[in-house]
Amino acid sequence: MKAQIAVLAGDGVGKEIVPEAVKLLRAAAEKFGHTLTFVPADVGGAAIDKIGVPLPDDTLALAKSSDAVLLGAVGGPKWEGLDYTIRPERALLGLREQLGLFANLRPAKLYPMLSEASTLKREVIEGIDLLVVRELTGGIYFGKPKGIEKTAEGERGVNTEVYTTHEIQRIAKVAFEAARKRRRKVMSVDKANVLESSELWRRVVIDVHRDYPDVELSHMYVDNCAMQLIRNPRQFDVLVTTNLFGDILSDEAAMLTGSIGMLPSASIGTKAGMYEPIHGSAPDIAGKNLANPIATIASAAMLLSYQLRLDKEAEAIERAIQKTLEQGYRTKDIQGPGTTLVGTVEMGDAILKNFLQG
Ligand code: NAD
Repeated sequence: MKAQIAVLAGDGVGKEIVPEAVKLLRAAAEKFGHTLTFVPADVGGAAIDKIGVPLPDDTLALAKSSDAVLLGAVGGPKWEGLDYTIRPERALLGLREQLGLFANLRPAKLYPMLSEASTLKREVIEGIDLLVVRELTGGIYFGKPKGIEKTAEGERGVNTEVYTTHEIQRIAKVAFEAARKRRRKVMSVDKANVLESSELWRRVVIDVHRDYPDVELSHMYVDNCAMQLIRNPRQFDVLVTTNLFGDILSDEAAMLTGSIGMLPSASIGTKAGMYEPIHGSAPDIAGKNLANPIATIASAAMLLSYQLRLDKEAEAIERAIQKTLEQGYRTKDIQGPGTTLVGTVEMGDAILKNFLQG
């Protein structure tokens, strides 16, 4: 396997955690006999400082011509005063749009030794391992008509929830394919008792399911799902849902596991996918070797599995993460009694060592 990976570390802790993930990817390539080429480029605040825009043409061209993008995080207080149109975060929207990233995948897995980090009771969260597949480019965030207008009675704000058959089909396929890598269960989340767009959503998901008879499909209303995620999250394997519902449910699912520094994500589209931790640039701890690199290393594992179809390699990285946690290594955000406190680089090194020995 030969592949080119665009490495966009970005700002803040992005600059510290991305090199740790690249370490693991390099080691995976060497150990399993692949040729991975890593090409770095500026994005976000770092790009604004150099050339005045958050997503330079060269960076976008690199992303488009690569097989995958590994991203750290963008943003920080330094650029907060800038106009909204040239803020670092605009780079993410540009990349999503230009790479056609229509599916966002967010796994939430609880490592048994970190169960104390969650705000929920151990017996509720123990063993959770779920994946939220969120539609990313359609629905109410983009539907027309939208806007605020003046009327005789005052102002009127409008947004429109819109989904087409095609949009639902492609996200449903992503969910069923992802389920095949997991426990083969998909829960489609909608509001089909009230919304016509949800009625179509459910009908199309059922249609697509005919091609995946080996995967179990169920349906749940979003309000019930919000409850069930807290009540009995173990029942879920893959959840597939709309942009708006997914925005909310994926954050709720993330909180189940406790620490933001542990959670990876993948955005998949028609070209290169983008793989990044769910957290931001964490300016409060940036440059201090304090950031937890696990979310980014796990994102690199998703890149191997979802983009390059290197499942064995991805699983080996995930096992190395698990083993390192079992050995008691912890960055500050997940530190607990009787554990060994390490920095970003030391955590990366420990995972690398376990990977090489695994
Ligand atoms: P944040 O995710 O950066 O930080 C929230 C809290 O979590 C902070 O206390 C931080 O120290 C901690 N944290 C985050 N990542 C961590 C890690 N790897 N290890 C240990 N602790 C970690 O969110 P924020 O503070 O709201 O945003 C900071 C900046 O990041 C803002 O400019 C925001 O716009 C940007 N942001 C970027 C992205 C992205 O690039 N995808 C996402 C969210 C926020």
